[in-house]
Amino acid sequence: MEIVVLGSTGSIGKQTLDVCRAHNIKIKALSAHSNIDLLEKQVREFLPEYVAVSDETYYSELKNRLSDMKIKVLTGSDGLCELAVLHCDKVVNAVVGMSGLLPTLAAISVGNNIALANKETLVAGGELVMTAAKEKGVEITPIDSEHSAIYQCLLGAGKNRFSKIILTASGGPFYGKSRKELENITKEQALDHPNWKMGVKVTIDSATMMNKGLEFIEAVRLFNALPSQIEIIVHRQSVFHSAVEFEDGAVIAQLASADMRIPIQFALTYPERLSCLAKKLSLTDVGALTFEKPDEDVFDCLSAAKKAVEMGGNAPCIINCANEAAVSLFFEDKIGFLQIGELVNSALRDVKYIKEPLLSDIINTRYAAEEYVLSNF
Ligand code: NDP
Ligand code: MG
Repeated sequence: MEIVVLGSTGSIGKQTLDVCRAHNIKIKALSAHSNIDLLEKQVREFLPEYVAVSDETYYSELKNRLSDMKIKVLTGSDGLCELAVLHCDKVVNAVVGMSGLLPTLAAISVGNNIALANKETLVAGGELVMTAAKEKGVEITPIDSEHSAIYQCLLGAGKNRFSKIILTASGGPFYGKSRKELENITKEQALDHPNWKMGVKVTIDSATMMNKGLEFIEAVRLFNALPSQIEIIVHRQSVFHSAVEFEDGAVIAQLASADMRIPIQFALTYPERLSCLAKKLSLTDVGALTFEKPDEDVFDCLSAAKKAVEMGGNAPCIINCANEAAVSLFFEDKIGFLQIGELVNSALRDVKYIKEPLLSDIINTRYAAEEYVLSNF
């Protein structure tokens, strides 16, 4: 097996390489945005034929550093798309944010199967992506732990459709707090996730629960579900990774330790289940599992995402891109924690709605939502 890994220097990217190392999976290409120190190390270890750095300012430096090696060095968004169309068994898209959309579409255009961590792709351009994948017979296997769980729960279902998807949320570091208590949250507090060690953006999204809003839309797209068929429940222990309910009332869940190498490996090696570096789950060590309803008044990103998926069109793209811009501002200490949700909600109200967006509309919506946030904070 030979794979392309986009975003190999990130949290999911590094864990993907752990899986590749453990099972001798060959790497055809790697990419980073700016972390060329780590990218160079990865190239020297895995010896891919291609490498890309998407931030063009690092291109010459990377090319110089790798001048002793036989490797093709690419750059920019076009560079990522060139990697995505290489002949390979699977493209792992572990890029963060909307920048993952064009590489996903490029991979689909040549029929490359995709292991997808980049949930923003399915939120911002979901209908376009799923339609194109269907046309080309491309399989999109989710890496996101909840969606991997749902995918696994459906494997034995045959022709039976689920009646409901039960999407679990850890609730993040601020679960149970009031809006008043969230007013002065710092980025250090927001980055302290109780159960998962992840990249910065998805960690902030978990704190605002935007992550679950994005995952709600991701589940609608991946499993062709109606929004009314998805129930979000807060499960603080992150052991039960999601479930499906069938017409007869049977509920099938997937449980495992909170380690992304399990869903990453599943996406790469299924139908084979190989030994994994992750710790095995001990239910007696966990003890009790708890389930609660989320508080959408406090976590208003969640209600924005639900509203956006009901609206359809470019609305999911609006909330996704407004959120990306707002999270960056929060990171630069320019806005408070609660303003992230406020900006996402007001962008959904004010940015131009397009009912049946083309790819060009989705790309323009990205800029419109970013501009809206930058001029309204
Ligand atoms: P990280 O921030 O850790 O890594 C992101 C990767 O994308 C890095 O390789 C980074 O390069 C690269 N990158 C950053 N900006 C750009 C850009 N503009 N264009 C192209 N590449 C870019 O993120 P995670 O690994 O945490 O998350 C990746 C995706 O997986 C996200 O969509 C996230 O929601 C999803 N996900 C993550 C989980 C996790 O446990 N981490 C769990 C489930 C889903 P560089 O290192 O050079 O900055
Ligand atoms: Mg998840």
